[in-house]
Amino acid sequence: MKWVIGNWKMNGLSESLHEARSIGDGVGGWTGKVVSMVCPPATLIARMTMHCAGTPLEFGGQDCHAKASGAHTGDIAAEMLHDAGARAVILGHSERRTDHGETNEEVRAKVDAAWRAALTPIVCVGEVEAERDAGRAEAVVEEQLTASLPDALPAQENEDLIVAYEPVWAIGTGRVPTEADIGAMHGQIRAHLVRRYGEAGHRVPILYGGSMKPDNAKAIMSIADVDGGLVGGASLKADSFLAIAEAA
Ligand code: PGA
Repeated sequence: MKWVIGNWKMNGLSESLHEARSIGDGVGGWTGKVVSMVCPPATLIARMTMHCAGTPLEFGGQDCHAKASGAHTGDIAAEMLHDAGARAVILGHSERRTDHGETNEEVRAKVDAAWRAALTPIVCVGEVEAERDAGRAEAVVEEQLTASLPDALPAQENEDLIVAYEPVWAIGTGRVPTEADIGAMHGQIRAHLVRRYGEAGHRVPILYGGSMKPDNAKAIMSIADVDGGLVGGASLKADSFLAIAEAA
């Protein structure tokens, strides 16, 4: 099973509903082979869920608060995303880590919040360019995994966790690591998950993210331990989302 998850970031208004519907209608042919999901701005989740009813397209949030409710102006609880129709939530994206100073410890608390609300957390990790240049990419990702992921998976089976490797310097830049570098990092992440969670670590999907496009998706998805893509810019339009889903 491959995963294609669109991260729409802060893009999308009512007029995007028909784009999502086109994606939903288009991905039907790959049911059972590809899980397709769009993570739109929170304002669109409920409406998209309704607008795409009857299609296999699923929805996710882009962040949640660690708490279920309370005096946190501007924040959204995992329970609210679930209530709106989401089944997953992106956590610890590098833009959240940069723009909002999110720490690994906060991300870890949000993973627990996602589980509490029956959402699948999609935990993002990845090095910045200076760290890769200094030969520290593996160490940085290891540190993020150690501190951002809880020590045990919940008891229930299936899709309790997704990890996304997103080298920060590849996001929105059109630059992509070599296939060898992606393979090495995904292998390291798999080894971490298995060391940490035993057998269950084998079934955690590991997605690649950072300038995934229709023309490189097939090659990237063919690399060992790449279970799909977390796609930003190329997920906004139905034709390129569908081309990536087809590659998957
Ligand atoms: P990009 O973004 O595909 O536009 O590089 C990926 C992401 O930030 O999740």
